Amino acid sequence: MITTDILIIGAGPTGLFTVFEAGLLKLKCHLIDALPQPGGQCSEIYPKKPIYDIPAYPEILAGDLTDKLLEQCKQFEPGFTLGERAETIDKQEDGSFIITTNKGTKHKAPVVAIAGGLGSFEPRKPLLENITNFEDKGVEYIIKDPELYRDKRVVIAGGGDSALDWSIFLSDVASEVTLIHRRNEFRGHLDSVEKVQELKNAGKINLITPAEVTAIIGDDKVKGIEVTKKDENPIIVETDHFIPLFGLSPKLGPIANWGLEIEKNAIKVNNALDYQTNIPGIFAIGDVNTYPGKLKLILCGFHEATLMCQAAYQIINPGKRYVLKYTTVSGIDGFDGTRKEAPKAVVKAIE
Ligand SMILES: Cc1cc2nc3c(=O)[nH]c(=O)nc-3n(C[C@H](O)[C@H](O)[C@H](O)COP(=O)(O)OP(=O)(O)OC[C@H]3O[C@@H](n4cnc5c(N)ncnc54)[C@H](O)[C@@H]3O)c2cc1C
Repeated sequence: MITTDILIIGAGPTGLFTVFEAGLLKLKCHLIDALPQPGGQCSEIYPKKPIYDIPAYPEILAGDLTDKLLEQCKQFEPGFTLGERAETIDKQEDGSFIITTNKGTKHKAPVVAIAGGLGSFEPRKPLLENITNFEDKGVEYIIKDPELYRDKRVVIAGGGDSALDWSIFLSDVASEVTLIHRRNEFRGHLDSVEKVQELKNAGKINLITPAEVTAIIGDDKVKGIEVTKKDENPIIVETDHFIPLFGLSPKLGPIANWGLEIEKNAIKVNNALDYQTNIPGIFAIGDVNTYPGKLKLILCGFHEATLMCQAAYQIINPGKRYVLKYTTVSGIDGFDGTRKEAPKAVVKAIE
């Protein structure tokens, strides 16, 4: 059982900034995210796109913003359960909550902050009859650990950045990489498209286009796939892994069944006070919540996280008064033993 003060569901920008604000109040956080890496939409959908409306950053790449948020909260030593979806919630007699993931990992905390954005990202699966039988038996929709593919034969299907970037990366890891796309044109960064062309010319990536995977072959695990090119007979490509990278679609998912008030796929909160939901002790912040005038912007998530942490402090330390201090005055005491503070004023005569 993982225990913490604030259990955050979603390690997007809102969840990550919550760790920092909670840390200032000496509250520990643990984050659960269905994705294998932190950053939410910023790292999963648009890591290389510049954002122009983060205060004090005239321009910052979404991936760099994630790195900065991780750097900023590192001193408060957040725990992470990544690659697991928060599935069920159980209220305990002492008022705390136990959240269990789809892989059975249990977490306990007196306060839950749902920072689930648009929901947990679910992979778009190709419409192949028997594909679910091969999941984790050679079919993977998200690459969590590239080492799984070392010296293995891999078939990637897809025409976007993920398919291009992973084909490039795995061409140095796998024994054989085949990239299949239903068009001749790929939609991605020019650098990536050109690199795949280069690797194809060098014989390091087999490219099959325009073509579609029409069947998976195997018994208890993937042995090959059937590929059909337009107006041609199907061919069999032998492989150890089939990785369809057709993008991810967000779904509010299991959170929708937790008894929370939901409006248009978002969680209703009390925005006049602290972004608490209809269940005391459960807050919803960032893109996942709704209230009159809501804007789904990163900076709004930061603001909501800051106010929410003050309310969490009161739940965790009932009756204790917290006096807001500027970080310029109080400095920051990291849980890792580090201390940051502005140079102190001295009293010194000038001769
Ligand atoms: C292409 C694009 C461009 C954008 N440009 C801008 C911009 O310029 N400026 C701006 O302010 N905003 C922009 N946005 C919006 C911005 O990305 C979002 O407002 C922001 O990501 C919201 O952060 P969040 O942390 O609330 O949620 P998210 O970033 O969506 O993160 C939520 C996380 O929660 C996880 N999660 C959800 N449910 C579960 C569950 N049950 N279990 C485990 N994990 C779960 C998800 O996997 C996800 O990682 C853009 C969005 C897109 C798609």
